[in-house]
Amino acid sequence: MVSGSSGAAVASGVVAQPLFRAPVGTRDLLPPESGRRRRLVSVFADLADRSGFGLLESPIFEELGVFQRLGASNDVVTKELFEFFDKGDPPRHLALRPELTASVCRAFAEHRPTPPWKIWYSGPQFRYERPQAGRYRQFDQVGVETLGTDDPHADVEVIGLGLRFYEALGMKQVRLLVNSLGDSESRPSYVAALAEYLRSRHGELSDQARLTLERNPLRVLDSKREQDQPVIAAAPVMADFLSGASAEHFAAVRAGLDSVGAAYEISPRLVRGLDYYTRTTFEFAADALHTAQNAVGGGGRYDGLVEELGGPPAPGIGFALGVDRILMACDAEGAFAAAPAPVEVFVVDTAGGHSAAVLCDRLRQAGLGVDRAFDGRSMKAQMKRADRSGATVAAIVGPDEQAEGAVTVRDMRPGGGQRRVAEAEVVAVVTELLEGAD
Ligand code: AMP
Repeated sequence: MVSGSSGAAVASGVVAQPLFRAPVGTRDLLPPESGRRRRLVSVFADLADRSGFGLLESPIFEELGVFQRLGASNDVVTKELFEFFDKGDPPRHLALRPELTASVCRAFAEHRPTPPWKIWYSGPQFRYERPQAGRYRQFDQVGVETLGTDDPHADVEVIGLGLRFYEALGMKQVRLLVNSLGDSESRPSYVAALAEYLRSRHGELSDQARLTLERNPLRVLDSKREQDQPVIAAAPVMADFLSGASAEHFAAVRAGLDSVGAAYEISPRLVRGLDYYTRTTFEFAADALHTAQNAVGGGGRYDGLVEELGGPPAPGIGFALGVDRILMACDAEGAFAAAPAPVEVFVVDTAGGHSAAVLCDRLRQAGLGVDRAFDGRSMKAQMKRADRSGATVAAIVGPDEQAEGAVTVRDMRPGGGQRRVAEAEVVAVVTELLEGAD
């Protein structure tokens, strides 16, 4: 028996050790925290549904090529993918998804829905990163994407939805940073000017930034290293290189944000990690997180990705928000607290037999939140559990009640009384008591 063996271990002074732990960079999410996440996703789902976005559920793994289209200079693709081969003949080269935009574009290219295609998603992503606070190898994101339009109002709708979501969680310290990365016309001249500038200050850059410079000069602007900051601060900005069309698009996005009262800061060197972005790019920074990992979400426009995946020309705009980091920021702000499971009634069973099981079933069928005790423990021990459960009402089935076909209903609030009622009346009596509770 389990209890016997653990008892023996304690008696001999040896504390049992688990043989396995969750893999490095992953965590078990236990109640009540897991319930808080589920509520967060439902707040997001509600907002997205009400804004005309439909849910896309795509596979957690895809053919490797889907993610390779995200860019050859992209750490997420080159270093951080969890790749594997399946048992096919020949085996297929697959990868766990590191993000969802590529899968959304793959799905668009595959199903060719009528544009604009507005979808939302939620679920785990996988990146082989160095784990630290707010950075995991399995983490959750929620996000939206609008495919098939480059109307600046689509950008405004997406960005505005992100802001409203943080607000709905009760967060007050989230800043919106926006920039434009230009288009295929304006970007090359900017990248050339940036590369020339960075080369001129080569000696002052960190080793890491120098390597990045050779692969993708834009990404140097993403460096969080202290040493690189003075060089980055004086780097040329994209705004000076925007083509007429891109400048106009960016102005329309900004005007749209103004019109809905969305506060933002222009962040002229914001480039973000994934290098498929064009034109609008944005990030949500949580000021309550005093770490380098204060980005609680970000996104942008990617006007060529669907075509890269063999689909029709379909510009897109979207964001992904990091659930783990949002919850950390909520903790830091005291927002969106975890709530225990909503148990309204606790069934105490000192009679044995099936009465308690039948009572639980009846109460649950009536739509009430019900928990119960097991193992025939003493009345005192069970009442303690009832107290801890947070239930407003205890429904007690002892030998006397069982003999009478009755239940004792006790109001657990201070000064609350108790009375014995016939089984058939329990639901009505409990419901009435709960309606009196606020
Ligand atoms: P990205 O897909 O890189 O644009 O990231 C979007 C958001 O996901 C970020 O702003 C973070 O909040 C979150 N995120 C990205 N990588 C991780 C990670 N390794 N662990 C936890 N959250 C992450």
